[in-house]
Amino acid sequence: VVSGGYSKSYGLEGKKGRIPVGISGRRLRIVVTGGAGFVGSHLVDKLIARGNDVIVIDNFFTGRKENLVHLFGNPRFELIRHDVVEPILLEVDQIYHLACPASPVHYKYNPVKTIKTNVMGTLNMLGLAKRIGARFLLTSTSEVYGDPLEHPQKETYWGNVNPIGERSCYDEGKRTAETLAMDYHRGAGVEVRIARIFNTYGPRMCLDDGRVVSNFVAQAIRKQPLTVYGDGKQTRSFQYVSDLVDGLVALMEGEHVGPFNLGNPGEFTMLELAEVVKETIDSSATIEYRPNTADDPHKRKPDISKAKELLNWEPKVPLREGLPLMVSDFQNRILNEDEGKGM
Ligand code: NAD
Ligand code: UDP
Ligand code: UDP
Repeated sequence: VVSGGYSKSYGLEGKKGRIPVGISGRRLRIVVTGGAGFVGSHLVDKLIARGNDVIVIDNFFTGRKENLVHLFGNPRFELIRHDVVEPILLEVDQIYHLACPASPVHYKYNPVKTIKTNVMGTLNMLGLAKRIGARFLLTSTSEVYGDPLEHPQKETYWGNVNPIGERSCYDEGKRTAETLAMDYHRGAGVEVRIARIFNTYGPRMCLDDGRVVSNFVAQAIRKQPLTVYGDGKQTRSFQYVSDLVDGLVALMEGEHVGPFNLGNPGEFTMLELAEVVKETIDSSATIEYRPNTADDPHKRKPDISKAKELLNWEPKVPLREGLPLMVSDFQNRILNEDEGKGM
């Protein structure tokens, strides 16, 4: 084994305020699975910027090389096309395990593949972490709370999830992934970290993602009506991606296993979100009501007291400041798309 255990390397070199380095003085080497996706690519940028060596593993199901192209040629960056459902041998200090489609449209597209990614993919990454003594962080989700009967949701809430519904490949898949992480932690001594991520938005989201923020923003730019599902009174809490990335790194570096809710507690109905999108992009945008999807949670809002207290983390970017930060990225990509079609 080339790499030392995470805690060992930290004990030797990882002083506060310095770039974390691995054993024998070399830079910390980190794997990010799903690193070509929306959240993963922002995380990779942060890790590269602070001087780490980063290996991305991605099968490009929803991720894109464009999200990482600015790092091609950087000797500290490596991209491997690989499906986490298959085993892999690597020598690293930390594993950020993000690989999994996150948009309901994408994860329902091939539900069996989604649950295989969550179960077999997470098992392989935990097996890897165990073999090399790496620290492992799982990006779980607020969907483990299902259609919650407690509001806001605390980490102690066990959730209200339909085990046989259309969303269960994702929410039961993530619940199993959390179970696996805790069993490797208790049974094999793997250092694990669990984040429960609430709805996150920002540049590099897929245009055809199907999630509400990307849909509304793309629709407003294309001068199409904003599609509100159901009566639009259901709520979500929207976190800007840089806040999430800061939270993930704080969790990985900290001493607590979790789970930790990482989200912005600002709660909006979908109709309120539509209003903010109108204010930001086009006040003349109209709304079109569509039937809602099955098992759609009625409300969702994180209680983040645990992350505030133990990780010293809280989100800094409110929706009205974060939304404009994704608009120019969407405008450019929609323009390129139109030019590609010869429009
Ligand atoms: P995304 O779809 O943009 O990124 C997922 C990445 O994983 C993509 O690059 C995709 O190609 C890759 N991938 C999928 N299956 C894979 C497989 N079998 N092998 C290798 N790579 C695979 O999604 P995202 O929004 O960046 O989400 C990242 C993680 O955060 C996911 O685990 C997701 O469940 C979690 N999460 C995200 C949100 C959110 O609002 N964005 C909320 C809760 C949880
Ligand atoms: N695994 C992997 N890379 C490694 C070590 C393990 O992909 O470096 C995979 C391995 O193929 C197995 C899974 O992780 O499918 C779980 O490994 P573990 O050693 O915990 O269990 P076992 O192989 O004994 O079932
Ligand atoms: N939604 C909507 N219009 C859209 C897409 C989604 O009104 O074009 C609603 C959806 O019904 C849900 C909420 O927005 O109540 C958030 O959906 P999303 O798919 O973004 O994420 P979820 O939190 O359901 O995983």
